[in-house]
Amino acid sequence: MKVLVVNCGSSSIKYQLYDISAQRAVAKGIVGNIGEEDSYLEHQVDEQVFRQAIPIQNHRSGFDIIINTLLNKERGVISEISDVCAVGHRIAHGGSDFTESTLLTEDVVKKIEKIIPLAPLHNPANLLGVSEAKRLLPDVPHVAVFDTTFHQTMPPRAYLYALPYEYYEKYRIRRYGFHGTSCRYVSRQAAKLLGKPIENLKMIICHLGNGVTLAAIDGGKSIDTSMGFTPLEGLMMGTRAGDIDPGVIFHLYRESGLSIDQIDSLLNCESGLLGISGISNDMRKIVDEANNGNESCQLALDMFTYRIKKYIGAYAAALGGLDALVFTAGIGENSPLVREKICNGLEFLGISLDNQVNKNIEEAERIISGKDSTVQIIVIPTDEEQMIVLDTLSVAGLTDQDLPD
Ligand code: ADP
Repeated sequence: MKVLVVNCGSSSIKYQLYDISAQRAVAKGIVGNIGEEDSYLEHQVDEQVFRQAIPIQNHRSGFDIIINTLLNKERGVISEISDVCAVGHRIAHGGSDFTESTLLTEDVVKKIEKIIPLAPLHNPANLLGVSEAKRLLPDVPHVAVFDTTFHQTMPPRAYLYALPYEYYEKYRIRRYGFHGTSCRYVSRQAAKLLGKPIENLKMIICHLGNGVTLAAIDGGKSIDTSMGFTPLEGLMMGTRAGDIDPGVIFHLYRESGLSIDQIDSLLNCESGLLGISGISNDMRKIVDEANNGNESCQLALDMFTYRIKKYIGAYAAALGGLDALVFTAGIGENSPLVREKICNGLEFLGISLDNQVNKNIEEAERIISGKDSTVQIIVIPTDEEQMIVLDTLSVAGLTDQDLPD
């Protein structure tokens, strides 16, 4: 039994084919730069990566290429399309309508279309992925797994902005939060690693990738998270500014001559690590350059970690205690220096790293706190695709005993 996981963006389609009995992805890849001259296919089976420049005019031909590659005699992993028993789609925004993953019926697709104004860049591309995948795999269940649903358990005091209430009612202006699938997976794995029921644990998840989310999880439920109405709110990120006084936007609009779209792009694409360092949004580069004495990179690193430290303090207070601090995603999993800079000075909260264990470079789930730490500090490599597979099987009613627990 195999499940196809699809993450369809505006210029790329990422895919994974997950084998349920083997409990692993047997193939994964991306068709990228769709509609550009330098479009390509990258397809990976085990450790073998196959990359090819190939014309991909649109998403339709992108999906054709993916399915043909999966069926290809040399590089493929299935002999017939009917080997795929279900498709799980990553959908960016479920608004307040969706509190869990759901079967993609016509009604559901219509509801997601209505949410497009909340996610004008992502949801249309995600929906295009749904219709193209349904064209090629019309007889299997297609399931939507939203990035927002996990945070739907936030109470109104956490998700509302202090605007006149009618703006929430009329325009759905509220905090939604993102990276929910990652936070859900990571919090479950952390509880397993600790050997404790998730219902008894208070955790802070630090999802530190190009996008950054902190989430406060009480008993397995999200009670607060750092991203808001859009992914722009919250922490400093690769290219996003994160929290900023909205007054800055009015000031820039009146004084700089920038248009609203230019300010949007400034805050989303030119700020964060890139904006402060002036060099890169890549944390590896920032750390290397900071170590070489580059002051802008040092400042970017200091700002990035200081802001996370502040949010940890706030979320420990919101949770009323803390059992586990969990690091995940590209930076969280791989940068001992970032973890160290975040944790240093938080000993008063019971957060104390084992500096030696923190520096070990491993890819496994692991505990990195010291013996005197009352808070368990944990690294969990995220696996959103696995979460999408589990949801897809369960929503499609295909769960069997082969599933990982
Ligand atoms: P996304 O999925 O949001 O695009 P990722 O979770 O892949 O992002 O994380 C990307 C980030 O992880 C980049 O900033 C990259 O520099 C950083 N990263 C990856 N490996 C390391 C490492 N060894 N040390 C520091 N940062 C790393």
